[in-house]
Amino acid sequence: MRLLLIEDDVALGEGIRQALSREGYTVDWLVDGVSALHALLSEVFDVAILDLGLPKLDGLAVLRRLRQSGSTVPVLILTARDATEDRIAGLDAGADDYLIKPFDLFELKARLRALLRRSAGRAQVLIEHAGISLDPSTQQVTYHNEPVQLTPKEYQLLYELLSPPGRVITRERLMQLLYGWNEEAESNTLEVHIHHLRKKISSDLIRTVRGVGYLVEERP
Ligand code: CA
Repeated sequence: MRLLLIEDDVALGEGIRQALSREGYTVDWLVDGVSALHALLSEVFDVAILDLGLPKLDGLAVLRRLRQSGSTVPVLILTARDATEDRIAGLDAGADDYLIKPFDLFELKARLRALLRRSAGRAQVLIEHAGISLDPSTQQVTYHNEPVQLTPKEYQLLYELLSPPGRVITRERLMQLLYGWNEEAESNTLEVHIHHLRKKISSDLIRTVRGVGYLVEERP
């Protein structure tokens, strides 16, 4: 789950980055509107957290240009307590949700989960496929009702492959989702995670599409 955080307050940004990284998100963080817009238009993110008061280009302008480009990436805006007009303008400009500063990190995490569920068009909370049950709210995974212990990266990979199954997902996209810009990754690291998932769940769960990426079959 790759997330772009756009926040120029360094203390707040660092707090959010740490909390969401611990939650298993791949967090990339930018502090101005121009670089944020560029990143949002050129790379793949599952969700963005956008502060409205930003240097170079304010958050509302970023959001308007993003939506004008046709992007539907879910965006949660952060606004100041007294700025009712900003919140309304943000929602009108295409924000999916907002939080008023200061906010509780637990609320932020819950709002993100809800946003991601909505954006995946999923009414139900549980993802169930081929004996696997994955609960995004707790990040618990079971296979034929037995708990499966996954690392955060393995969980992210499985979540992506199952959202929904039946799509070939390229190596590049998976590497971006798992590592973003900041984390160094060995070239074979994806294969290692896939190997562990096959071992922990089922050897025929994930198909390698040679030279392209990976696939969980829609009908097992
Ligand atoms: Ca700000």
